[in-house]
Amino acid sequence: MNIVLMGPPGAGKGTQAEFIKKEYPIPHISTGDMFRDAVNRETELGKEAKKYMDTGKLVPDEITIGIVEERLAEDDCKTGFLLDGFPRTTVQAEALDKVLSSSGRKIDVAINIAVPNEILIKRLSGRVSCKECKVVYNLQSNPPATEGICDKCGGELIQRSDDLGETVAERLKVYQEQTNPLLAYYSRQNVLQEIDGNRDSKLVFADIKNRLESLK
Ligand code: ADP
Ligand code: ADP
Ligand code: ZN
Repeated sequence: MNIVLMGPPGAGKGTQAEFIKKEYPIPHISTGDMFRDAVNRETELGKEAKKYMDTGKLVPDEITIGIVEERLAEDDCKTGFLLDGFPRTTVQAEALDKVLSSSGRKIDVAINIAVPNEILIKRLSGRVSCKECKVVYNLQSNPPATEGICDKCGGELIQRSDDLGETVAERLKVYQEQTNPLLAYYSRQNVLQEIDGNRDSKLVFADIKNRLESLK
């Protein structure tokens, strides 16, 4: 199945992607993780992306579309994929449809995880993630067994600099202005599934799983 996972910063896309991966073995493609890797490795892509990420703005469409197109051309995506955090603009969504249709594919389902802004701000302020395997924790609601260390792989847990201060407000604004309109785009294509993300993450996943099963 070809799945798009949408929702504002902090909605639980990464968290739900982990659950989905366990149930359905398809590659998890997170543009945020790809950009953060490039920033850490100090590649040209990373240097360019960092300028936008640090201020909470979107990385330009042509750059973002390029890396996703390359990834979707790889063999492991032939039997399905889970896109997390892409598309985020109408231009990206249209480019995605175009590249998929050129290889006889399409998006089967766009899952939107909705959570009120005040909850998002709280979640982001407590988010830490594993430097190695990218699994996400929350210092308040889902802390690791040992402070600073990933339960899953023993990697170091770090806080993202864009989860602090004014960048959070900017990211929420950018979401409203540029990404929220995509809900109408996928609704018109009859592939949109809206999920209440303001519940325990296991309940959110049970809901997502039901929707995915009903589409099989
Ligand atoms: P996104 O990828 O959409 O930005 P994450 O999956 O990284 O969101 O989750 C953001 C933060 O909220 C993390 O600290 C995560 O542990 C926490 N979180 C995720 N889902 C829930 C939930 N259903 N209830 C409470 N906290 C959650
Ligand atoms: P979150 O989990 O908080 O939703 P992500 O990890 O998906 O955030 O993205 C972090 C940052 O990476 C964004 O603020 C943006 O600068 C950049 N980014 C990620 N995905 C995209 C995209 N599809 N288009 C443009 N920029 C992106
Ligand atoms: Zn880890």
